Amino acid sequence: MFENLPQPLRDVVDHFSKLPGLGPKSALKIALYLLEIPEHKVRSLGESIISLRENLTICERCGGFADRSPCDICLDPTRDDSKLCVVSDWDGLMLFETTKIFKGRYLILGGLLSPLEGKNPEHLRIGLLKKRLSEGKVQEVILALGSTKDAELTESFLRDLIVSNYPHIQLTRLAQGIPVGLELKYVDHESLKQSIRYRQKL
Ligand SMILES: [Zn+2]
Repeated sequence: MFENLPQPLRDVVDHFSKLPGLGPKSALKIALYLLEIPEHKVRSLGESIISLRENLTICERCGGFADRSPCDICLDPTRDDSKLCVVSDWDGLMLFETTKIFKGRYLILGGLLSPLEGKNPEHLRIGLLKKRLSEGKVQEVILALGSTKDAELTESFLRDLIVSNYPHIQLTRLAQGIPVGLELKYVDHESLKQSIRYRQKL
């Protein structure tokens, strides 16, 4: 597609069309837009992309993206250390934060177990989770992994791990109301609030 594009334009279109959610047509649209806006804005965009890789770090406590480690959420003294919400990805954390209903801490697993994709426990932040639980402050672990098959598998793995190693910790999961097969990020805010408020014991 677009073989006749001048090389600099084709380079940009090639890059953009590999981004999630973009195909060649939208990539070309964005590239042409970049030619229309003032040069300093394009420069600033380019610099922010480089800065993203150079200055963004992964928090050593929760595994989330941050500009420092530990991140602001992990350092916030007003948060409840006794509640730990386990999510698969960082966008799950962001989703919880927008509801403003959860004031505990987080741990981001870095994905879900998936036999089909070859994702095993060693690909997830299980070590980090064990470290957090071994500190002795957490009294409740809320599993907020969604309701896909991979989420169920991961939930069952974590339940076994926690029940056998940390029997004093209460385990809960988000209340039903999240439709089966749905990833957490597609759940609307009101349903999410309700599912945290009425979370169920495991
Ligand atoms: Zn953190």
